[in-house]
Parts: sequence; C-alpha cells; structure tokens
Amino acid sequence: MSKGKLLVISGPSGVGKGTIVNLLLQRRPNASLSVSCTTRAPREGEKEGVSYFFLSKEKFKRMIDCGGFLEYSLHFENFYGTPAEFVEKKLEEGDVILEIDVDGALNVKSAKPDAVLVMIAPPDRQELYRRLKGRGTEEEEVISRRLARADYELGKSELYDYVIVNDDLETAVGQVEHILEKE
Ligand code: 5GP
Repeated sequence: MSKGKLLVISGPSGVGKGTIVNLLLQRRPNASLSVSCTTRAPREGEKEGVSYFFLSKEKFKRMIDCGGFLEYSLHFENFYGTPAEFVEKKLEEGDVILEIDVDGALNVKSAKPDAVLVMIAPPDRQELYRRLKGRGTEEEEVISRRLARADYELGKSELYDYVIVNDDLETAVGQVEHILEKE
C-alpha cells in the first residue's frame, strides 16, 4: 500500500505549469517530482536523472517491451515515458507529481484510477500566445505548432478531475495544494 497520492499535472506549453510545480515542491516537503525518460537530446543545462533520464531509442523500446513504463507517448518524433518502478518507489515515501501531456495523463488514469488529474489552463488563448512569444527563443512555426497542440490539450480538459486557470500564480498554487489536501 503506497503512502502518497499520484498527482498528474498537464497543461499547454507556456502555461506556467513548471513554476506551479516548483512552488508546490517547495511547500510540500513530502512531495516529489517524477523524472521521465526521453529519447530526445538533452538541452543546455539539463541534467541526467534530474530533468529526464535520457535514453537511446533502443533502450526505450526495450523498456516498453518489458512493461517498464506506467505510460509513454511520442512527441515531435521522440518518446517520453513515466518509469513505473521509479514512481512506485517514490509513492512509498510520499506524494508524487507527474508533469506530463494529456495523452500520458489519461493513460496513467487508466492504469491507476486513484491518480488525480489536474489541468492548468491559460486565462485565454491570446495570453498563452503572448507568453509563448515572450520566451523569445522560439520560431514562429514552433509557436503555431505549440498553439495547435495547446488547443488539443485544452480540448481534453473535461476528462480531467480539476481544471485550474493560471491567472494568478499564488492562487493557482493554493488551489493545487487544496486539491492535494482534499484528495
Ligand atoms: P520537452 O521536450 O519540452 O521537455 O517535453 C515535450 C512534451 O513531453 C511536453 O508536453 C511534456 O509534458 C511531455 N512529457 C514529458 N515527460 C513525459 C512523460 O513521461 N510522458 C508523456 N506522455 N509525456 C511527457
């Protein structure tokens, strides 16, 4: 019997879910973040075992074959997956947060119906567009691809247990904390 709850947080790129998750981790010492596996190359500053476990496609496929993932999916030609054993071990110590996309989140819910799914939504689409542009690091084409993806992800909101609009950061974090306490 695991001690913690499994909280799955999703939301479109640029919605601020990373910031929410970081604040949540600071405030809840018994919660930890799951580290996903990916076949994409590390970006500058990303650390093995912290940002992701970076795997070759061959190794990733071997892990799929032996049932090593709670869920996995393909994004922009790279695989991403939640390592099952890693999550189970962390759940014995406390709450575990997964920051994954909608497809992954819904697969987690099928595998573990006790998981709590939280969607972080932008106040409006224009605001999300402004935030994505504000990063200043992305090409126009990448931004429009992400916006299409955002529409897809937000379109699945009704399948989530909770939807939180990230209008005000403090309020949004408080709402997620409240959900963890309540569940
Ligand atoms: P990025 O390459 O920008 O770090 O992540 C790309 C996408 O992969 C994001 O939408 C992120 O939420 C998703 N992702 C990260 N880890 C996982 C995972 O373990 N499983 C799934 N299904 N998606 C993930």
